[in-house]
Amino acid sequence: MGSRRDFLEKLTVSTISLPLLYNPTNLFAASDEAYDGPILKVAIMGLGSYARRVAKAMESCKRAKLTGVISGTPSKIVEWRTKYGIPEKNCYNYDNFDRIKENPDIDVVYVITPNGLHKDQTIRVAKAGKHVICEKPMGINAQEGQEMVDTCKAANVKLLIGYRMHYEPKTVEVIRMRKAGEFGKLKFFQGQSGFTIGDPTQWRLNKKLAGGGAMMDIGIYSINGARYMLGEEPIWVTAQETKTDPVKFKEGVDETIQFQMGFPSGAVASCLSTYAMSHLDRFFLNGEDGFAEMQPSTGYGPIKGRTHKGELKQPHITHQTLQMDGMAQLIFEGVEPIVPLDGEEGVKDMKIIDAIYLAVKTGKRVDL
Ligand code: NAD
Repeated sequence: MGSRRDFLEKLTVSTISLPLLYNPTNLFAASDEAYDGPILKVAIMGLGSYARRVAKAMESCKRAKLTGVISGTPSKIVEWRTKYGIPEKNCYNYDNFDRIKENPDIDVVYVITPNGLHKDQTIRVAKAGKHVICEKPMGINAQEGQEMVDTCKAANVKLLIGYRMHYEPKTVEVIRMRKAGEFGKLKFFQGQSGFTIGDPTQWRLNKKLAGGGAMMDIGIYSINGARYMLGEEPIWVTAQETKTDPVKFKEGVDETIQFQMGFPSGAVASCLSTYAMSHLDRFFLNGEDGFAEMQPSTGYGPIKGRTHKGELKQPHITHQTLQMDGMAQLIFEGVEPIVPLDGEEGVKDMKIIDAIYLAVKTGKRVDL
């Protein structure tokens, strides 16, 4: 294993000189430097496929540790207990998890369940006095998101959304360049987010559990990406839906939506969200003095990209490892990522999703 110095030397100068706001020690999550500060004790709720990925990534965290689970499936609890050495007293089901309130071995609950369950589960966790990390989309509309924000605020707990790209080194570098004005006046963003979805019986194609279709699940990356790449909030949206398979994609479950957003500076974004095309994970940012192109742009990585200055060479570190160490640093030390990932940030995306669905329905431009 190399020393921290070795690791530092592998990083490009531009990464090291990130603004103070973002503490680049986040990038050292996977390095071998000793850490003796506080450890964020995390319970995961919902032991599905993404939860497995997060738990595995947390094995390399320095500031966060998996200490508990919440699941409705007793056999999964047994499996996770064995795998991660979780004591029985830190295991809960969906009926009794309010008792987490009395458990000092859990600081935060990471909600990784179907979207339609996020709101009620987040509210219950907040009322039990624990911080919440909630997966994207934070809920199924902006009203739910706002209720989650208000409840967490009243309970004096943090609400963070699982926007792992906000800690991803190449993404962070492009945002740093944008903030430093290196692209000049920004004109255009293009985001393409999609994959071909399989099993028609899965919760992602169930309106009640998913809240919608591709837009909730994958299109949200282009929405969030447009906002962090351009550094502005949209003031209008237009959107058009196409559906080639109305049996698989029932009423209220979107298959493909193209949408456009306008920003106060005059910049525009053109995006595609779909459950019916493969190899679709691309961002393009265009400014008067330069550009950034990322493909893949939001997958689990390695992210690849280049700007007018050349290839992006920041290291690939498992996104969820950086995210969980970064969130621990945010909770314990107040160190913010380069762009926020709190509940308010989640609500901004939900408002845009609401507006896109309205624009599809009415065929009209929707002002935000
Ligand atoms: P999944 O289907 O693999 O897992 C969902 C889990 O929730 C399962 O363990 C299931 O048993 C449990 N669950 C509890 N109540 C349920 C109910 N009523 N119906 C169905 N399942 C129920 O899904 P996933 O891919 O792990 O996605 C979970 C969440 O994580 C979603 O919100 C998704 O958007 C998000 N996610 C985020 C990323 C990311 O990169 N940030 C990636 C994948 C998924």
